Amino acid sequence: MTFHAKFSGYADPALHAAGLYIGGKWQSGSGITVLDPSTGNLLAEVADASIEDAQRAVDAAHAAAAGWRATPARQRSEILRRWYQLMTQHAEELATLIALENGKALVDARGEVAYAAEFFRWYAEEATRIPGEFRRTPSGSHNILVDHEPIGIAVLITPWNFPAAMATRKIGPALAAGCTVILKPASETPLTAYAMARLGEEAGVPPGVVNVLTTSNPGGITNAMLADSRVRKLSFTGSTGVGRVLLAEAAKSVVSCSMELGGNAPFIVFDDADLEAALDGAMIAKMRNAGEACTAANRFYVQAGIHDAFVAGLTARMMSLKIGPGYDPETQCGPMITQNAVRKIDRLVSEALAAGARATTGGKPLMENGYFYPPTVLENVPVNASIAREEIFGPVAPVYKFESDDEAIRLANNTEYGLAAYIYSRDLNRAMKVGKRIETGMLGINRGLMSDPAAPFGGVKQSGLGREGGVAGILEFMEPKYYAVDY
Ligand code: NAD
Repeated sequence: MTFHAKFSGYADPALHAAGLYIGGKWQSGSGITVLDPSTGNLLAEVADASIEDAQRAVDAAHAAAAGWRATPARQRSEILRRWYQLMTQHAEELATLIALENGKALVDARGEVAYAAEFFRWYAEEATRIPGEFRRTPSGSHNILVDHEPIGIAVLITPWNFPAAMATRKIGPALAAGCTVILKPASETPLTAYAMARLGEEAGVPPGVVNVLTTSNPGGITNAMLADSRVRKLSFTGSTGVGRVLLAEAAKSVVSCSMELGGNAPFIVFDDADLEAALDGAMIAKMRNAGEACTAANRFYVQAGIHDAFVAGLTARMMSLKIGPGYDPETQCGPMITQNAVRKIDRLVSEALAAGARATTGGKPLMENGYFYPPTVLENVPVNASIAREEIFGPVAPVYKFESDDEAIRLANNTEYGLAAYIYSRDLNRAMKVGKRIETGMLGINRGLMSDPAAPFGGVKQSGLGREGGVAGILEFMEPKYYAVDY
């Protein structure tokens, strides 16, 4: 891997001397260019794995599997704990690397590193508490004993928007469960994944337990791995479109799938909400990672009585944000990941404006070399505009006015997605009642942030299958085995 000299000062060189990581060996290479989204300039070039490399990675994960499965839970736990400590020690370098390749503001990148490391700490603790069951059958004829076994080799595919946290949210529970893994990070943000693999090596992860591949042929490589009968798990985080393709591919060899897919989160503000709290929450739910989050508030439904004050407050806050490269410590809103992402946001906003929406701030891409879109607030947006159906994945807040609770619920549920939702109201009874009727996997009540390694993260409808984090996360990497026992 080469690392662009201009940027080498930003990250600890020990964290970026890497290539493919297979069976505990680093294999240098080239073919995938990593760009700085704030300038479009070349940042680094990393290895491009072939199908043979992927097969070698499965061989390596297989060779390490029996040993890792037999490693006492306490020992697996301590390795994860050391990895957590190393991430914490290197937090600033990792945050800088994330800010460089992803573009997010340093403050968000620091938050991501802390969140990401916490998955290792949480699963270091869970590794030693894997549940089992023992009971008598209702007929009294025999005993039911349930053990949980590691599911087998797991392929982990992650997106670019949280390059550290999406990896640790999978690696942590997989290793705690006793599985060996092959991680395929997004090719836009491979440097963080490689940096973390180096720290894992230092933490004592045995060769072959974690393998990392970057590739320009994700479909080919993944299909080859899924066709190998030794691979028993696919854990994917990314778009719903790619998730559907992978589910179909995994069906061919009946591979167990966990899918963390897209979102279209409603953010509902009732007349009785604390306005300042709702605005604070809206800024977090919308602007963490400049809107590039699956849990990002995508549709603001605001009740008629508080609507105008909310739009005015949100506009003032969005206008005040400082735009710039993520690695500039002053920046509050970094660039989007690619030029294509800017084009998509521009299309959604232009269509909404043409249909009668009004931008109270922003509304057009910035004419910069990098991939910048300004913080934008839209009001008077038609409820059936494409911006209400598609993930915006950018710093745009469309606001819709509603009158009754029933109307808010109907609008909120009018989507194929069901990942996250937010409700602001001083009346907890009302918030809980409305919350029960919202089709979502996660609900923030008077909170703009719900992600927590100790909580089950995931969606309903076309936002996914399974849960990551919490007690549920480790069971995604285990199979229950039932013993019928008579004695
Ligand atoms: P994406 O689906 O384009 O890519 C995700 C990953 O899949 C990348 O590593 C990519 O290289 C890989 N990939 C693409 N095509 C593939 C194929 N045919 N076979 C195998 N792998 C393939 O998504 P993205 O643009 O990187 O990420 C943004 C999306 O991720 C958004 O939809 C967002 O909502 C979603 N996301 C969901 C969660 C969640 O927890 N639910 C978290 C973060 C992001």
